[in-house]
Amino acid sequence: MFIRGSFPMTRKSFLKRLSTLPILPALWSHLMGSAGAAPPSPSPASRVRPSDPAWPEPAAWEKLNQAVGGRLIKVESPLAGYTTATNDTARAKILKDLQNPFYIGDQPGATQSTGWVDAWNSAPSVYGIAAQTTDDVVAGVNFARTNNLRLVVKGAGHSYLGGSNAADSLLIWTRAMNKVDLHNAFVGQGCSGHAAPQPAVTVESGAMWIDAYHAVTVEAGRYVQGGGCTTVGVAGLIQGGGFGSWSKKFGTAAAGLLEAEIVTADGEVRIANACTNPDLFWAIKGGGGGSFGVLTKLTLRTRDLPDFFGAVVATIQAKSDTAFRDLIREFIDFYRDHLFNPHWGETASFRGNNELAITMVFQGLAKSQVENLWDPFFDRIKKSPEKYTIASDPIILAIPARKFWDADFLRKYLPQAVFPDSREGASDKHFWWAADNGQIGKYWYGYQSTWIPETLLTEDQRTKLVDALFSATRHWSATFHFNKGLAGASPEEIAAARDTPMNPTVFTAFALVIIGGGGPPVYPGIPGQEPDVTAARQNAQKIGQAMTELRKVIPNPGSYVNETNYFEESWQESFWGPNYSRLKAIKKKYDPAGLFFVHHGVGSEAWTPDGFTRRI
Ligand SMILES: Cc1cc2nc3c(=O)[nH]c(=O)nc-3n(C[C@H](O)[C@H](O)[C@H](O)COP(=O)(O)OP(=O)(O)OC[C@H]3O[C@@H](n4cnc5c(N)ncnc54)[C@H](O)[C@@H]3O)c2cc1C
Repeated sequence: MFIRGSFPMTRKSFLKRLSTLPILPALWSHLMGSAGAAPPSPSPASRVRPSDPAWPEPAAWEKLNQAVGGRLIKVESPLAGYTTATNDTARAKILKDLQNPFYIGDQPGATQSTGWVDAWNSAPSVYGIAAQTTDDVVAGVNFARTNNLRLVVKGAGHSYLGGSNAADSLLIWTRAMNKVDLHNAFVGQGCSGHAAPQPAVTVESGAMWIDAYHAVTVEAGRYVQGGGCTTVGVAGLIQGGGFGSWSKKFGTAAAGLLEAEIVTADGEVRIANACTNPDLFWAIKGGGGGSFGVLTKLTLRTRDLPDFFGAVVATIQAKSDTAFRDLIREFIDFYRDHLFNPHWGETASFRGNNELAITMVFQGLAKSQVENLWDPFFDRIKKSPEKYTIASDPIILAIPARKFWDADFLRKYLPQAVFPDSREGASDKHFWWAADNGQIGKYWYGYQSTWIPETLLTEDQRTKLVDALFSATRHWSATFHFNKGLAGASPEEIAAARDTPMNPTVFTAFALVIIGGGGPPVYPGIPGQEPDVTAARQNAQKIGQAMTELRKVIPNPGSYVNETNYFEESWQESFWGPNYSRLKAIKKKYDPAGLFFVHHGVGSEAWTPDGFTRRI
């Protein structure tokens, strides 16, 4: 509960009150002769911290609390209870809970990664609004702007770059805004007569993808393009562009956005779609989360569901460096000739111990077709026992697509592939993939990504790729995410994604390579949970060296903003290429004073890295 009190009015608070009086905008409008235009937001030189005299007084916070129906909360570290716990059992339980991504998501002061060496450590905001309505969000945006606060927006908290946490800030936390509604014939506001009605789903911005998948696929038998990880937030993923396992078939998630409701820096609730505020609509389809406003609702197109989704999983061990180089070439050729099309997605990891781990998924094919396709590849491997061993036998499976996100089905038939949210009273439709388990609470040493051009698959260039990849693995393992490059997708999906700000190098890339690594969760100040900074930095260097090897053969390396390097150089070019100048102009139009700040977000070059002090 928020603490109430009575507060004498000081000069400072009088001025603050005055600045919020409703008459001022009208007066400004009259003086400036610009009907309806709001006074320009002040462009602060620096934002206010709790230690500053200008930090809002308790009475102001209390007023905000009343405006948001009592949903202003004091944000605490998820380990607040750890330090006060009286026994080891209680302390162990807190650490165990923090291994559950749904539990982490339910903590206003926690993030899904615990930090990144020399970049950021997860830090709770001072206060947070546990928003339930668009009005709550409006109140938070207005309060932050009027009081010159550092504002943070958090959905499900998966940002690798730490965009959803900052010390000394006010948090708008959308976790409780998670309704999902389906439509048979959706037409965006203002689009009547311009766009045909189509099946769609409206998702509140705090929902996780599993909430959308359950409603759209399990319950309604349709498909919506989202992300692979079930606990990722809908709004965060879409604003970065968003890749699902089958993006070569269904395009980027952002390209499927039909409409959004967004609260901009001036506190206005705006609709953004192809017909209304189309510039803002374009910007939020990949311009990065936390930069243009707070999204409250998103409407996404839904599609017909394929009959089956399936997977091919295998691990092959090469017996020497030379054999591993051959294996890389063998697999790259196999990919180019048989898998480089809309049926296939997900990953192949090329590991430093000369292992190839294949985790590919497919849609639109029968299991027998997939077996026929892969048999020759596995036969070739088996016929060279002097070079290779099959470390884990190939598994090829297909399941009815409607069951793919059905927690009951998965618990029963594929229990090794999923972890349920086993907390008492938790939703029984919530699970996370075992493949994502290693990332929970991770403390990152390094994490980098680059799109790989399809030209490197051609006969005359493919040796360059194989050599670079082999050299990279001498430093660190590299994973190709084939679903995160759009080369090989249909012309329609590419055209739809072209109408988003994502760096156009994605259209001629057959994959995104991700090279990353980290250690267990880190909680500075808690004995035994401190980071090993020296080891982390050494590993960061190796990760960097691995990516350098690959980038040697990639002329214009671009990187995916949602899964990228905190220290990315020329990040504007890397994330958005020629689209950055347009994004910046839209940012200036809707957020001229820079209320919304995230690390390496559009317009963030105007601020110090902590987002507190303006430098331009
Ligand atoms: C384990 C894991 C798996 C992943 N898998 C995939 C994948 O398969 N495909 C893929 O494309 N990406 C994937 N990602 C990356 C993911 O898309 C991004 O991290 C995404 O930004 C997370 O969104 P979130 O809401 O969970 O995170 P948050 O940290 O809450 O938000 C991310 C950013 O968006 C902003 N934001 C959040 N909500 C709003 C809102 N309502 N309005 C305005 N801004 C907002 C935040 O301020 C922050 O800057 C994965 C990440 C992790 C950690």
